Amino acid sequence: MVALTRLPLPRLLHRFDAWWSGRVWVPRIHRAQQGRLIQERVATLARMLAALVVGWVPLDLYALQREELMRVLPLRLLLAVALLALARFATRLSPVNLVRLVLWAQVAGFGAMSIALESMHASVMHLNYTLAPFLVVAQLAALPLPWIRSLRAALIPAWLLVIPLASADMEADPPFWRGVWLYGTIAAIAAWVGHSQLRLLVDLLGARRDALHDALTGLPNRRAAEARLAVERARAHRGGAPLSLLMLDIDHFKRVNDRWGHADGDRVLAAVARLLAREVRECDLAARFGGEEFLVVLPDSGPREALDVAERIRALIERTRVDVPNGRIGITVSIGAATLRSNEDEATLLARADAALYRAKAAGRNRTEAG
Ligand code: GH3
Ligand code: MG
Ligand code: MG
Repeated sequence: MVALTRLPLPRLLHRFDAWWSGRVWVPRIHRAQQGRLIQERVATLARMLAALVVGWVPLDLYALQREELMRVLPLRLLLAVALLALARFATRLSPVNLVRLVLWAQVAGFGAMSIALESMHASVMHLNYTLAPFLVVAQLAALPLPWIRSLRAALIPAWLLVIPLASADMEADPPFWRGVWLYGTIAAIAAWVGHSQLRLLVDLLGARRDALHDALTGLPNRRAAEARLAVERARAHRGGAPLSLLMLDIDHFKRVNDRWGHADGDRVLAAVARLLAREVRECDLAARFGGEEFLVVLPDSGPREALDVAERIRALIERTRVDVPNGRIGITVSIGAATLRSNEDEATLLARADAALYRAKAAGRNRTEAG
């Protein structure tokens, strides 16, 4: 009993739990990218395997007897066609089903081949068919999956270990157990590699997300806004649809900071960001452009719509009070609006919106001006 309590079991369990929940979970926003990467990898693997399965035919021609060849050849071609079909429709299947189908296709194909050869006398070339389970399970290393999922998937090609055993009515002899051991080792390494890839992927996507978003407000940042603006400008010039910008700046924000403190100033910024994100359409982009300056990109919107949106936002902010620990803060904003002209670049469009904002400030603030 004493010895048991001395074991660091609770601590280990706690650490396992922390690690499990921290490492395995893929944030919802990253699942689509994880899924796409899995689909890409499985499709590539399937194409490579199809080539390998057909590429093996010359060796069969050399090693197998005619009767054996007649049994195995159609199975090879069938497996190759199935793999190519799965690669072709990879993006139409859910990643989980795609992985399962590619594994099961190989279990069916290689399993049928080993059954077809079972009654034949063993030759050196037959031994190559016993490599199939290892060939299949090693593929899991290419998939960014939590290790527990890889190990579960590894149960599918494990059938390839037992099919020859059942069909040849063989015993589970030492060579069989050696195969099981090797299979388990490869599965564990593949699961570890896949898991490491998943962690890298999640870290990378998180870092990319951080690089394009503002930490205080959660809005896209200036870099993201400029990238989006470049895309929308190109689209507008090609398609002829209008494109407008709003440049928005909080009035006398320095006074808010001076009176309420920086922390409450931050709360005001976050509140304005929430309001903007809520008020624009899904196809629009509201971004934090600088300190207390925000940019709204309005695709498919001309000067009239831009002014309407700007006025709606301006009036709403004027009415809004931001709750802070010691009271409620009321603010106003000034807005400069500009609509893209033909052959205009992003920098000039931004400069015109900025100039309009400057005029709104000069004219007394809490107003909208068109550039
Ligand atoms: P105007 O009406 O002319 O825009 O006056 P203003 O005081 O808003 O403009 P000014 O450019 O003089 O000051 C902007 C202030 O915004 C100064 C800076 O302290 C504050 N600010 C910028 N970024 C942040 C931030 O992240 N948090 C807080 N709390 N304040 C910020
Ligand atoms: Mg300001
Ligand atoms: Mg400013």
